[in-house]
Amino acid sequence: MDEEKYKKSREYDYTRIRLLDEIDTPELSLAKLRNYSLKGNIQGAMKLKGELHDYIMSFFEHGLTEGYYPEEVSKGLEEGKRKTINVSVYERNPLARKQCMDFYGVQCQIYNFNFEEKYGEVGKDFIHVHHIVPLHQIQGDYKVDPIKDLIPVCPNCHALLHRMESGSYLSVEQLKERIKNN
Ligand SMILES: [Zn+2]
Ligand SMILES: [Zn+2]
Repeated sequence: MDEEKYKKSREYDYTRIRLLDEIDTPELSLAKLRNYSLKGNIQGAMKLKGELHDYIMSFFEHGLTEGYYPEEVSKGLEEGKRKTINVSVYERNPLARKQCMDFYGVQCQIYNFNFEEKYGEVGKDFIHVHHIVPLHQIQGDYKVDPIKDLIPVCPNCHALLHRMESGSYLSVEQLKERIKNN
């Protein structure tokens, strides 16, 4: 509301907030949360723990804090720095990632590999999310569609989708064909 005040405030410590997910249910009303050990009102950032944490998290299919992403893949991108950053932003966007995983599941869509099935608990919800829209099609106000534009793939398939063969990238379908033919 007050531009000057806002600018001034940036000289002090501040908290940056990132949207991880959106959920719309009366089950998460203030009154309900109080039944699950919320004390008082929510007046700022707070750490979730115990019963309140378990209750709130029961509304989310996938964990919200495990969107970490190894660096190797984006380092291997060949389009130049600015575009590399654009792509990894879409692939790292926690909300888009989660919506993509809720739709497709967490198995590699190239050959159905599931990390939890293979490795147990440590592999739970582990998957990369690949952004399939070609870089040259991305315009200024582009908004990612988590189902049409993103696809869960294992790190091996992901790395191959970011490698070139005779000057172009393989599509998801082409990579699937390679596995079938072997
Ligand atoms: Zn990718
Ligand atoms: Zn794969």
